Amino acid sequence: MSKKEILRLMAGFRKFRDKYFANEHPLYTRLSTGSGQSPKTLIIGCSDSRVDPAIITSASPGELFIVRNVANLVPPFEKKVGVHGVTAAIEFAVVNLAVENIIVLGHRQCGGIRALMMNQSLKPNGFVEQWVRIAQSAKDRVMAKYGGSDEDTLCRHGELESIVTSLDNLKTFPFVESAMRERGLSVMGIYFDLEQGTLLEYDEDRKEFKNIEL
Ligand SMILES: [Zn+2]
Repeated sequence: MSKKEILRLMAGFRKFRDKYFANEHPLYTRLSTGSGQSPKTLIIGCSDSRVDPAIITSASPGELFIVRNVANLVPPFEKKVGVHGVTAAIEFAVVNLAVENIIVLGHRQCGGIRALMMNQSLKPNGFVEQWVRIAQSAKDRVMAKYGGSDEDTLCRHGELESIVTSLDNLKTFPFVESAMRERGLSVMGIYFDLEQGTLLEYDEDRKEFKNIEL
């Protein structure tokens, strides 16, 4: 990143500081004292620079607990406690913060899903290739149904279907399952179509994505 770019980011921080620290009752006074943060929603989103959950939902600081990774994937629950960043974030949000909602937020033009669907390794045998295999079952379902389709169609269906795989994986987490059962934690899949500027929601009963009317 060029120095000019860093200066631009620092100017952005100045605007942020003026908004959240300089008023009569600064938001960060509330967020940094007493009980601290109490976000209601955990979002599992992609690292892609175009799909920042806080920006696309116009959320304020303190509203969203976010974990982002390549292709917004949730790995299956691993019984053996290890160094699992995504699992640690989900555990903290559900057990410690007691969030009320979990959203898996997928998106159009996902590079991670494209790598999975088209076998386009950014780096052969690299970390991305290994990571996106979490959604291999989603790819298998798409290929079985849309196998002869063009690249864009396969990728779009891969992006949608991988959200379903992540939702299924989420429910294998014991603390997610018990929070859903005992205190009504809601788990939902949403897809941001960045070409159309629309959101789609996964309908568990009908097993399909439908447009969210806004
Ligand atoms: Zn992505």
